Amino acid sequence: LSGLLAGKRGLIMGVANNRSIAWGIAKAARDAGAELAFTWQGDALKKRVEPLAAELDAFLAGDCDVTDLASIDAVFDTLEKKWGKIDFVVHAIAFSDKDELTGRFIETSRDNFTKTMDISVYSFVAVAQRAERILNDNGSIITLTYYGAEKVMPHYNVMGVAKAALEASVRYLAVDLGGRGIRVNAISAGPIKTLAASGIGDFRYILKWNEYNAPLKRTVTIEEVGKSALYLVSDLSTGVTGEIHHVDSGYHTVGMKAVDAPDI
Ligand code: NAD
Repeated sequence: LSGLLAGKRGLIMGVANNRSIAWGIAKAARDAGAELAFTWQGDALKKRVEPLAAELDAFLAGDCDVTDLASIDAVFDTLEKKWGKIDFVVHAIAFSDKDELTGRFIETSRDNFTKTMDISVYSFVAVAQRAERILNDNGSIITLTYYGAEKVMPHYNVMGVAKAALEASVRYLAVDLGGRGIRVNAISAGPIKTLAASGIGDFRYILKWNEYNAPLKRTVTIEEVGKSALYLVSDLSTGVTGEIHHVDSGYHTVGMKAVDAPDI
């Protein structure tokens, strides 16, 4: 696959550490020849992201907290000055108060509902809005979603509602940007142990449940999500947009889950 993304430049948003899905995608994209830029969220994560960026010769495009729209503006201004145009954007950002990622959805507070939607959904629209200006024709934007958008998953709660809105946003943005050949797609990843996932109640049980019931009898890795992302950000998928591509060992295809996970 080396050379698949030769001559292409991409922005990666959402690396927190070397377990992040965004890091799996960044590694795959770099291996395929892309030139990358990273954002990070706040000083605490900068210390982690800097050495990872250096490992992939990635450009540091700036501190970006998506609740601060000016910081998103600044990232795209910086990229425009540095590169002029870019070819793809990876949005791997989500947040919800972990106290509400457990128990009943009905308990969701208005504050956390709004915050979850702002960071996990509106940020994707805000990023696409700014990316439109500097994306080359036939460019690609991807985001990360989860099966909890389609079906009720225990503890996923407001994040499931946010992911449903994110997936709808993928389709609306695909129409808005399609005229220039720019594609907007999502990867629906199976559960992976990351910083964000550690906030979800009973996450270890969810991992085990997936392992026992997915057709491939295991969970997926960030490297596997990275490989699938290569297809979506490269010219291999110029005919694909508005799509939710499942990278979940086939879990979403199984109607009747047959095996309960043993106690863990
Ligand atoms: P992660 O913790 O490594 O990444 C989450 C990222 O979101 C972090 O880099 C964090 O800095 C960023 N973020 C949160 N709030 C932000 C804000 N206000 N401004 C800017 N950035 C902010 O975890 P991950 O699992 O790699 O998550 C990446 C994406 O993948 C998320 O959208 C998540 O919902 C999605 N996803 C994860 C799984 C899983 O099981 N891990 C499954 C499907 C989808």
